Amino acid sequence: MGYREVKVSFITLGCKVNQFESQAMAALLQERGHIIASEGETADAYVINTCAVTAESSRKSRQAVRHALSENPDAITAVCGCWSQISPEDAESLGSDLVFGSADRHMLVDALERCFDTRGHIVNVDDPMSRSLFEALPAGSGIGRTRAMLKIQDGCHNFCAYCIIPYARGPVRSLPPDDAVSEVKRLAAEGYRELVITGIEISSYGFDLDGTSLIDLVEKLCLAAPGMRIRLGSLEPRTVAADFCKRLSRLPNLCPHFHLSLQSGSDATLKRMGRRYTTQEFFAGTELLRSYFPNCGITTDIIVGFPGETEDEFEETLSFIRKCAFSAMHVFPYSKRPGTEASKMPEQLTNNTKKDRAKRAAELGRELRRSFLNAQVGTVQDVLFETCIDGIWSGLTGNYCEVSVHGGAAKNEVSEVRITGVGRNCLEGEILGAH
Ligand code: SF4
Repeated sequence: MGYREVKVSFITLGCKVNQFESQAMAALLQERGHIIASEGETADAYVINTCAVTAESSRKSRQAVRHALSENPDAITAVCGCWSQISPEDAESLGSDLVFGSADRHMLVDALERCFDTRGHIVNVDDPMSRSLFEALPAGSGIGRTRAMLKIQDGCHNFCAYCIIPYARGPVRSLPPDDAVSEVKRLAAEGYRELVITGIEISSYGFDLDGTSLIDLVEKLCLAAPGMRIRLGSLEPRTVAADFCKRLSRLPNLCPHFHLSLQSGSDATLKRMGRRYTTQEFFAGTELLRSYFPNCGITTDIIVGFPGETEDEFEETLSFIRKCAFSAMHVFPYSKRPGTEASKMPEQLTNNTKKDRAKRAAELGRELRRSFLNAQVGTVQDVLFETCIDGIWSGLTGNYCEVSVHGGAAKNEVSEVRITGVGRNCLEGEILGAH
C-alpha cells in the first residue's frame, strides 16, 4: 500500500446522496486498509461532507469543520460536498488541509493518503456546469447488510427559485443502466435485501443517455434482483403519469412507498417557487398511485413561509396537505439561500411567521401520520427486520412504517406480519411466517 493505516472519521450533513457518497468514500478507504472511526472516536483524519441547501445547512457545515479541527488539531481535515463547492474560499479560510467540492470522490481518497506524507494543502474545486460524466462510486452501506443505497443520478436542471443545488451539482448525469444492473446484482449477492434508489433529482434519470428513462431503469433493477425490495427516492410530480404507474405496478418487488416533493399546496406559491406543476396535477398523481397501490405510503416535503406566502396561501397548503393524506412529511421553514432567485424576492417573511407556520404544518403532519398508522391495523404486511433491542425486533414495511414485534424475527429476513396496534410513532405486530 505504501501508506500507513489511518483512522478516518466521517461527518456527513444533508441529503441521502451525501450519505451515499460518504459511505462510498469510506468503502474506498477500507479497501486500502484504513479504518473508519466510530461516532465520537478521535481520528487521524476527518472528512466533512457538507451541505448548502439552506443558509442554516451552510452554517452547520462551517461548524462541523471547526469541530473536527478542534477535535484533533494534528489530524488531516478534508472538506467536500455542496457547501465547499459553493464557498471554497470559506472552507479554505477555516484551515482545512483538503478542499474538494461535489465531484472527484476517488481523487479525494487518493489526496487524503498523500496528505499524510506531505502535509500538503490541496484545493480541487471545479466548475460544476462543465461536468458531463457521472462519477460511479461503490454502492452499499457502512453498517449491516440490510438496506443499501444506489446513486443513479447527479445534478439538476430545474433551477427552482429557492434552491442552490443546480449550481452546486451541475447538469444531469446518469449512471449507465448496465452499470446499475451489475451493482444491484453484486449487492443482492452480498446479502442486501433492500435497495434505495437515490440521486439529486432521479426523475431526470436518463436525460443525458439515449432512450432510457427512470421507469426503464427501475424495471431492469427489479428484474435483476428479484429477492431484493426496491424503494424509490424522491420523485418530481411530473414523473407520476399513467404509464409510469402502470409499469411500476407490475413489479412485485417494488416498495409501495412514493416520496413526491410537493413544497407548497398553493398554486400561486408554486409558481413563485418555479415548480412546474399545479396542485391539480399533483393530486392527480397521488390518485393514480393510489389506484395502482391502494395502501401505498405517499410522503412529501413542504417549505412554509416562502417569500410572499400570504396567510390564505398557507391555509390553502394546509387544506391541500389534508386532501393528499400524506403518510409522513418533512416541513421546512423557508430559509434564505444567498445566490438563489428567491433570496432576492421582496416580501421575505419574519422568522416568527415561518416558525409558526412550520409548527402548524408539522402538527397536521403528525395527525395524518397517526391516521395512516391506524389504517394499517389489521393488515398483513411484509416486514424487513433490521434491529433487535431487548428481544423486540424492528423493521420496515414496504409502505415505510416501522413495525416492532416480540421475538420470532431474524435480521435481514422478510416476514409476513399482522399489524395489531399502533405504538409511539410505529406499528406493533405479530409474525405470521418468514418468506
Ligand atoms: S428539483 Fe428543484 S428543489 Fe430539487 S434539486 Fe432541483 S432545483 Fe433543487
